[in-house]
Amino acid sequence: MDSKFQKIRNDFPILNQKVNDESLVYLDNAATSQKPQQVIDALINYYQNDNANTRRSVHTLGERATEEFEAAREKVQKFINAEQSREIVFTKGTTDSLNLIASTYGEVNIQAGDEIVISIMEHHSNLIPWQQLALRKKATLKYIDITSDGQLDMQDARKKITDKTKVVSIAHVSNVLGVTNDLKEIAKLAHTHNAIMVADGAQAVPHMSVDVQDLDVDFYAFSSHKMIGPMGVGVLYGKANLLKQMPPYQFGGEMIDFVNQYDSTWTEIPWKFEAGTQNVAGAIGLGKAVDYLNKIGMQNIANYEHNLVSYVLPKLLEIEGITVYGPHDSNYHNGVISFNLRGLHPHDLATALDMDGVAVRAGHHCAQPLMKKLGVVATARASFYFYNDKKDAYMLVKAIYDAKEFFK
Ligand code: PLP
Repeated sequence: MDSKFQKIRNDFPILNQKVNDESLVYLDNAATSQKPQQVIDALINYYQNDNANTRRSVHTLGERATEEFEAAREKVQKFINAEQSREIVFTKGTTDSLNLIASTYGEVNIQAGDEIVISIMEHHSNLIPWQQLALRKKATLKYIDITSDGQLDMQDARKKITDKTKVVSIAHVSNVLGVTNDLKEIAKLAHTHNAIMVADGAQAVPHMSVDVQDLDVDFYAFSSHKMIGPMGVGVLYGKANLLKQMPPYQFGGEMIDFVNQYDSTWTEIPWKFEAGTQNVAGAIGLGKAVDYLNKIGMQNIANYEHNLVSYVLPKLLEIEGITVYGPHDSNYHNGVISFNLRGLHPHDLATALDMDGVAVRAGHHCAQPLMKKLGVVATARASFYFYNDKKDAYMLVKAIYDAKEFFK
């Protein structure tokens, strides 16, 4: 292990433990990532020294908490290259961000007969809010298909996105197939037809450099906890002109301008969408996570993970009886690798891997329509991050061979 990697690894105390008497190999990063000591310390420091409610406070702690909260917003803005910090809305996570768009933008802009286009590879968070909106409004929900190797079918996208389309909402990176979708191209298509482009960036922002202006997406959602930040906080990026036009998501403290007995007016963006006391510590922790990722460099993280996938994917494909979903060429496959072993339920496989200390996920990965399309009810899924190394990848492969032997 080189010293640079060892230093990173040491920042993540949770990784240094035994599970079932074996060294932990944590490969469930698509579900949630681990947190470096720097992020944990930022949370402790906030609660030990600065804890106060933000905004409208004139006392020192209140001002300090507000400054740190807003500084975190600016860090996030720069991290995804948003034009302005008021385009960054703090939410509970990707799910909350996507529900916000469907409930506000969707509620006022979707009419009966309109079309909403998503893809068959969407996580339920980017599916159900649109499905339910379509049902409420008598609009039509359309799905872009995937190709035989699990990539988004761009030919189908060109057919499905039409002048009737009002919203296109697509994952930047699939949480099952490990593919990166060409958001820039899809956004161009959407805009040609005067539709807005929404992106679910939950699996992209932690792993690659994301530039929302270059992608020209109208909205972009992601979660702190998948990018080494705390749970319970996330981000909705939205272009200022759209956010300004949208009605509030929730009502209550902090989001108002003036409240009369029988009507009220709203404050400016982004606070119009941040009703009630926010997860201030969480946002500050996310800011610290952004600092940490920036220090390593998102391009370095992307290159490092690509090398890991190039190492492990061919080894997995060599295993007799394995089916790997998504592209088999590591140039098109990210660090999320879903697979099944013939004759073995993925839950049994994941339990067997856990006996070797290897943590992977098994289930439908909140993507039941995709599972149906793939002809399975569930898969096992190993997902890598920058604090994993080839030894972890080797342990995964070894544990799969052990499981095969065990269930023989
Ligand atoms: N979208 C994708 C692609 C995901 O992988 C996930 C989480 O697994 C989500 C959305 C939901 O994220 P959260 O549970 O943080 O809201």
